Amino acid sequence: MRLEDDIISIKGVGEKTAKDFGRLGISTVRDLVFYYPRSYKTYSEPVPVSSVAEGDRVAVFCKVVTYVESHKGRRYNITSLTASDDTGSIRMVWFNMPFLRSVFKKGESYVFYGVIKIKGSMRVMEMPEYFTQFKYQKALTTMQPIYPLKSGITNNSITRAVDAVKDVIFGIPEYLPENEMSDRGLMPRAEALMQIHFPQNEESLRAALKRIAFDEFLEFLIRIRSLRESTVTEENFHRITKEATQKKEGFIAGLGFELTDGQKSAIQDIESDMSSEHVMNRLVQGDVGSGKTVVAVIALLMNALSGHQGALMVPTEVLAVQHFEDISRYMKPYKLSVRLLTGSMSVKEKREVYQELKSGNCDIVIGTHAIIQEATQFNDLGLVVTDEQHRFGVKQRDSLSSKGHIPHVLIMSATPIPRTLAIILYADMDISVIKDMPAERKRIKNCVVGTEYRPSAYSFIKQQVKEGHQAYVICPMVEENDITEAENVISYSDELSKELGSGIRVSYLHGRMKEDEKKDILHSFIKREIDVLVSTTVIEVGINNPNATLMMIENAERFGLAQLHQLRGRVGRGDAQSYCIFINVKKSKESVERLKVLEESNDGFYIASEDLKLRGPGDFFGIRQSGDMDFKIADIYNYSDMLKLAQDVSLVYGKQFEGKIIL
Ligand code: ADP
Ligand code: MG
Repeated sequence: MRLEDDIISIKGVGEKTAKDFGRLGISTVRDLVFYYPRSYKTYSEPVPVSSVAEGDRVAVFCKVVTYVESHKGRRYNITSLTASDDTGSIRMVWFNMPFLRSVFKKGESYVFYGVIKIKGSMRVMEMPEYFTQFKYQKALTTMQPIYPLKSGITNNSITRAVDAVKDVIFGIPEYLPENEMSDRGLMPRAEALMQIHFPQNEESLRAALKRIAFDEFLEFLIRIRSLRESTVTEENFHRITKEATQKKEGFIAGLGFELTDGQKSAIQDIESDMSSEHVMNRLVQGDVGSGKTVVAVIALLMNALSGHQGALMVPTEVLAVQHFEDISRYMKPYKLSVRLLTGSMSVKEKREVYQELKSGNCDIVIGTHAIIQEATQFNDLGLVVTDEQHRFGVKQRDSLSSKGHIPHVLIMSATPIPRTLAIILYADMDISVIKDMPAERKRIKNCVVGTEYRPSAYSFIKQQVKEGHQAYVICPMVEENDITEAENVISYSDELSKELGSGIRVSYLHGRMKEDEKKDILHSFIKREIDVLVSTTVIEVGINNPNATLMMIENAERFGLAQLHQLRGRVGRGDAQSYCIFINVKKSKESVERLKVLEESNDGFYIASEDLKLRGPGDFFGIRQSGDMDFKIADIYNYSDMLKLAQDVSLVYGKQFEGKIIL
């Protein structure tokens, strides 16, 4: 068997399974081999029953002391038994598994593994896994891979399929010379791929992850280096005119605020790039609220006034709409045509915009990925800006440049990457950093509190609204499902509306709403027709309403620090004092410690570095990726050492490895 073979050629994979695999994006052996587990499950030594507490996930070694009961409940068939060790007993309960009746025998002992619930005075485990003592001993010493799944496919079927292609994995060629691997402490590639699917122990898994992160970084660095070579000399067909740069001065004078030094020098960099001989390729890095948008707008303005088209790409439609409205307003005096282009627009509407882009009637287009995904043709695309989003990949750039001369590229990022790493990761770009915040800005005041503080938080919201300000409330999270998420936002906002009393206008926003609805709500919020906006994290990136001064985040313990920092960044964008209330519902020791970081600091770089320190070394995957790059395993915070190593290796071997790294 070979990597290129169809998944169906694997022993044990039939038509149906192949179809299920297809839904996970797995159609070849290669797709399967590079479909990595999301996490691993490890079992722990059994503990005495008397030592368990509500919510613990534990193993207990117990004797079955009752007969196994099985009866029809209202909604399920329920199978249960009581099991004890010397220190106490637990009721074990399973739903819709009547066959278990014949699995357990009174008087025999088993290991039960599950989460403890306390019901009255009774300890209960619902749907525990069960093992014989012998089997559990074996399970204890292994780590079970957990793959990302979709319905129809089980973890087991993936594991079995990977197991069946072990020989293919062993046959994956090594591109690194032996001595490089040993000198640099890198695990061989084939072994790493084996270990990631079937880890022997934590240590070998860690080494495997490192090696794969290394490969991903190296491949990436080789690609951006060749990209750099091809763009650095790319001729600039979209120079900005003298007239455009002059008009820009007028625009700045009319802004109503003084630009910060960081903004000024970023604009200066952009201006000189765009008037130079070569195409611009620039990253503007600045923390949330540092004022990156206006920098992007000025670039788009200069480009448009010089007679070229510009595109602004953002990650969400909500953000696209907001930028569209702001920028339309900004561009009005210049008689430039600004259009919105998003995935949810009707085919007819989209076609209209496409037409205008093709004919050159539209000067600036703002939208989501749809812009590039749907084969947009431009008349003369001069500048592409991406805001708050993924790195503008090689593919995207190719797809745009194939539609004319290579445009200038400007990337706005709030991801706090240490400078030393940014230089490596953005080796194909020039970097401008906005270090300073607008001068008038007052520091956001933070507090981390428990649920008992809710009434005070609500009266604080009232007070802020009375003073003419607005508030965001990020709703408590529910399990995965989108529908329940919507219901949850709606019911929370109903409750809140009752709490706050009439006179305070509460509305809500969630991911399931139609784009038009979202747009209307956001519009009303910005026009101050809504006082309190209850929302899911759809507002996480980029939304700007400087009049909002209060952010209340329910279930703060369930978000990553970086995400919380982004959410908080929605306030503190105007001159008034702003506040952020983090509600810590669970109050575990770990969450208290993490949230303290946010309470103490508003600095994205500091938060990112603390976040890293607080994550235990056992935490392989519990982290949000850095967001900017499209790696499966590699992540600049966890594997910064591998990034540096990959940098060294790429400098030594350069192009030699090009095309050799299979990922
Ligand atoms: P971000 O860097 O997070 O994208 P924005 O560009 O959205 O930040 O700017 C946040 C707010 O700050 C906006 O309301 C913007 O108008 C305002 N702003 C930007 N630059 C300045 C400045 N130099 N002085 C005062 N306010 C500014
Ligand atoms: Mg922004």
